[in-house]
Amino acid sequence: MNGSRSPLRVAIVGSGPAGSYAAAHLMNRREFAVQVEMFDRLPTPWGLVRSGVAPDHAETKMVVDLFERTAGQPGFRFHLNVEIGKHLGHQDVLDHHHAVIYAVGAPDDRELAIPGKDLPGSHGAAQFVAWYNGHPEHRDLTYDLSGKRAVVIGNGNVALDVARILTKSTRDLAETDIADHALAALAENQIEEVVVLGRRGPAQAAFTTPELLALAHPPDVDVVVDPTEVALADEAPSTFSARMKAQILQEYAARAPRGRRRRIVLRFLATPVEIVGTEGVEGVRVARSELVSGPDGSLGVRTSDDTELLEAGLVLRSIGSRGRPFPGLPFDERRGTIANDEGRVIEPGTGRPLPGAYTTGWIKRGPSGVIGTNKKCAGQTVEMLLADHAAGLLPEPSHDAQALERLIRVRQPDVVDHQGWRAIDSHERERGEAEARPRVKLVRVDHMLRVAGSDIPA
Ligand code: NAP
Repeated sequence: MNGSRSPLRVAIVGSGPAGSYAAAHLMNRREFAVQVEMFDRLPTPWGLVRSGVAPDHAETKMVVDLFERTAGQPGFRFHLNVEIGKHLGHQDVLDHHHAVIYAVGAPDDRELAIPGKDLPGSHGAAQFVAWYNGHPEHRDLTYDLSGKRAVVIGNGNVALDVARILTKSTRDLAETDIADHALAALAENQIEEVVVLGRRGPAQAAFTTPELLALAHPPDVDVVVDPTEVALADEAPSTFSARMKAQILQEYAARAPRGRRRRIVLRFLATPVEIVGTEGVEGVRVARSELVSGPDGSLGVRTSDDTELLEAGLVLRSIGSRGRPFPGLPFDERRGTIANDEGRVIEPGTGRPLPGAYTTGWIKRGPSGVIGTNKKCAGQTVEMLLADHAAGLLPEPSHDAQALERLIRVRQPDVVDHQGWRAIDSHERERGEAEARPRVKLVRVDHMLRVAGSDIPA
């Protein structure tokens, strides 16, 4: 490998599932030494596992045990609360490493281009998720939960997550690691019905079978599906998963509502065309739609003039998310990703790789797949990086690890290392234990820094 005995030094920007799987792929190499320096702009690691996965999905979060094992290996270092693009630039990082992998995710809600989308009471679902999960940048958001109905636009797993959280009892939520501010707000929740709007049919829904089944678990929530909407969209589903979803929805449609405390209504062939209101959201105008085949065989949607007004006090737009351009790196505007070829960052015009720059996860491939999808995605990126290393194509770093440490201390004195994160983690778990919860999250950066830096409670 490159004829060099010095370790391969790789920086990873972003400590979510994509970055953490990339770290695992690198640290597991036995044939030569690898050092990984992982950066995150928050003082806490694990990205969407902490701030995206629903609080009632504790088993999904167990993947952090694997990530913790990687982070505990010699040769791995955390630089948390350090933002690349702000405290350090791309070239600063490359000066100290052979390569840098960007795993910064897709943090923004996709834009829904309909009138009224910006009315007070209409919110992006990704922000709502970050709020109830205690992301420090979203903890001060407020949601009006005083109306009887909420409408969720979109038919993906995030739409089902937010519908579930809005209908869950306070007792059930209080057993989770949901942020305290969200628990308090949701305890006052007056919403009786959450309508989830799918513009296409059951077989085209983006949500997955386990999420669909999970909706019906709480004993105090009815799941309501209109049999005519399921029948209207009844073209033969082509995949096993689509057939499963269609079958489960038919079963839901056949059930009579049992008059439970709250209801989730799953609508299909129902396209939102306007969010209606004057001072704030009063409802959503929905057009009945039909499936149409595109030239490539894909099923699109055609809206009709047949519309209805669904009154609602809260609208959550859950139509997927989008990556943000990263300072100093080429961006593919159409896909909302860092421009790349199988993980190698490239100049869009020429397709030429930028030496030493790689990407993985949602900012590489777009916001798709479940947490485990990132393992394969990161594996591909790491293979590209190692092939370039073997071919002698990686730039030799001009500075060593000590110089990096000094630079970080100058640019961001509040850097949090692994020990600091462990202190935050233990503090949160101890607070959780006292309340029979997995953890009670710190949601303010200054509190996190206080706990990371000393034994003083926040
Ligand atoms: P998503 O899976 O891409 O779903 C977006 C939904 O929005 C689709 O149903 C799409 O319908 C709909 N949509 C798009 N534009 C629309 C418009 N203009 N009007 C109405 N509907 C529109 O996005 P996501 O739910 O944010 O999830 C992102 C990724 O995270 C997914 O891979 C998801 O599986 C994953 N995730 C997984 C879990 C889990 O495993 N528990 C939990 C959360 C998220 P069309 O299909 O018609 O475009």
